[in-house]
Amino acid sequence: MHPVEFKLIEKRDLRITWSDGHITHYPIQRFRDDCPCASCQGETDIFGAIKMPMQLPIAVPGKYELTSLTPVGNYAIAAVWGDRHDSGIYSWEYLLQMEARLDQTPEETA
Ligand SMILES: [Zn+2]
Repeated sequence: MHPVEFKLIEKRDLRITWSDGHITHYPIQRFRDDCPCASCQGETDIFGAIKMPMQLPIAVPGKYELTSLTPVGNYAIAAVWGDRHDSGIYSWEYLLQMEARLDQTPEETA
């Protein structure tokens, strides 16, 4: 399964239409908070300890503004954010894992 359409709705809701016809709405804040890159999700050091990302106490301007989505091969998209963060690569598999955590009722295309 792969996405056939991406649509940003009112800058706060990313709608993805999948090849089997179902639709997922990703709240944009959630989409950023689930950024799969190492600096957002923490890296494992050589001893196996997880280094957690540094948490900023205040919201960074533009953090939740999705500037662009760029295809990466035919398996993922790269997101660029208003705070210039651009290392998040969202594979289709990861998007479907996120979807499973969203707890939404499925919607069918008309
Ligand atoms: Zn990130």
